[in-house]
Amino acid sequence: MTAADAYDVIVIGAGPNGLVCAAYLAKAGRKVLLLERRFETGGGLNTDEYFGYRLNLHAVHHMMAERMPAHQDLGLEALGVRYLRAPVTAAFPLRDGRALLLSQDPAESARSIATLSESDASAFSRMWDEFTPILEEHLIPMTYRLPEPALDQMVAFGSSASGTRLAEISEMSFVEVLDEYGFTDPRVRMALLSLPAMWGLHLEDPLGYLYPLYVCRMLSTALVKGGSHRLSSALYRSLLRNGGAVIDQCEAARLVLHDGQVTGVACSDGRRFEARAVVSTLDPEQTFLRLVGEEHLPGDLGPAVRDWEWEERTLFGLHVGLRGDLVWKAAEPRIGDSMIVFCGLETDDELLGHLRRLDAGQEPECAWLHVTVPTRFDATMAPPGRTLVRAEAVVRYDAAWRERAGAFGDSCLRLLGGYADLGEIVFRRHTTPVDIEEKLTTMKRGSIKHGAYTPLQMGYLRPNDLCSRSETPIPGLFLGGASMYPGGMILGGPGYLAAQVVGGFLERR
Ligand SMILES: Cc1cc2nc3c(=O)[nH]c(=O)nc-3n(C[C@H](O)[C@H](O)[C@H](O)COP(=O)(O)OP(=O)(O)OC[C@H]3O[C@@H](n4cnc5c(N)ncnc54)[C@H](O)[C@@H]3O)c2cc1C
Repeated sequence: MTAADAYDVIVIGAGPNGLVCAAYLAKAGRKVLLLERRFETGGGLNTDEYFGYRLNLHAVHHMMAERMPAHQDLGLEALGVRYLRAPVTAAFPLRDGRALLLSQDPAESARSIATLSESDASAFSRMWDEFTPILEEHLIPMTYRLPEPALDQMVAFGSSASGTRLAEISEMSFVEVLDEYGFTDPRVRMALLSLPAMWGLHLEDPLGYLYPLYVCRMLSTALVKGGSHRLSSALYRSLLRNGGAVIDQCEAARLVLHDGQVTGVACSDGRRFEARAVVSTLDPEQTFLRLVGEEHLPGDLGPAVRDWEWEERTLFGLHVGLRGDLVWKAAEPRIGDSMIVFCGLETDDELLGHLRRLDAGQEPECAWLHVTVPTRFDATMAPPGRTLVRAEAVVRYDAAWRERAGAFGDSCLRLLGGYADLGEIVFRRHTTPVDIEEKLTTMKRGSIKHGAYTPLQMGYLRPNDLCSRSETPIPGLFLGGASMYPGGMILGGPGYLAAQVVGGFLERR
């Protein structure tokens, strides 16, 4: 061990959260090492190129985008991040040829809803008007603030009208929120439930406080020009510019402990690095059972970690390269302007029934797809004159996915073919849940969020009440990945919060 191998902080895992955390700490003048198991950094911010087609194999839709503090604080725009939005965010083609179109402009969305139901259009406007202050005054700031115990949080909500409303919907399910606002048209209800359902969320769980994020932020979702990897490249460059170090193809195998205190990381290739603090962005099983070791866990932490629940639902991805254009069949021409087109289901009952069958393992063929045509908004995503189509289906995990990937992919194409003419397919690639977990070990069972969103794994309880504020009961060890508050997706919240907490810890020492 040389002085060069000793750091203020080692961050394990170079996904979006590890990159954000490491980049903030380096900017604050800390000596930082970021360790990554794979040959490249980025984790879920991954773009691979095949024959000139650029495939975002994981994250594509960026809900927070410029609202992530890192965007301004780290100067990500100057480092190459440009967000692209579409005139329509979500289109729902209907069997009669019409389509429901939702966009970031609530008045436009309400006009489209009104073509199906005047009263649902009023309900939508009322809901949006109430959700906007809930987001601005609570949910967005809370994404970048450490969590409070539920009771304290509820008391704090009581001091404003928007907080009181948020507290009221907090323990409702998404379905109940729609009931409460009085939505009655089954097609409108299907559309509004599809926005959280596309991420595998359970529509009947009491997670109502998430709903404003999954409606309003989802309807402002953006693509990163050139592919999601551009965002990870910008974070990487920020880290290097501020003197941070990155070692890829270096898997953290265990933490080095002295007198119960974390003092470094030992890697599977035999290398060891010292640090005053270590941030793990891995899931609780890997962090505590593998890196720390069950024998070193204080009594109450072991059971909390062993009980960690992974998601039941994951995603099957299908990327298709076309020689010419994709032509939507619906009479509504603006479907082509939509960033996401939902195909297959028409009513909320169909959606709920589909999800129930899927959870019971009774959905052998693709019945519901969400489709994005990245080349429609960003010509750099494919060779000139070619079209790239990305379709995803919410599916249930099982270990045999690879064996049926071809047949399931065929059924996705059949479903899509009912909605669009694809012309000549020149390229096709599947990503199954098994591919996801083999590539990114943090995404066990194809996990989208490093663990289920259940009431007992959210807020102050994510991943458990001992670790949701980044600090853990093991001195010198901090959490900073999607299994920590506020959770998964490209929010940059866990990494940002870990950087603040670790910065404070280093100052105190
Ligand atoms: C198919 C799919 C599609 C998705 N689409 C979207 C989307 O459109 N929008 C969105 O917001 N979110 C999306 N997500 C979710 C998002 O990608 C994740 O929630 C997010 O990447 C989590 O970030 P993270 O930094 O916490 O962890 P990760 O991105 O999982 O990164 C963890 C990193 O740690 C590394 N690692 C693992 N073990 C070790 C070790 N022992 N030592 C060193 N390094 C290690 C991994 O290789 C990885 O690079 C999607 C997820 C999936 C699976």
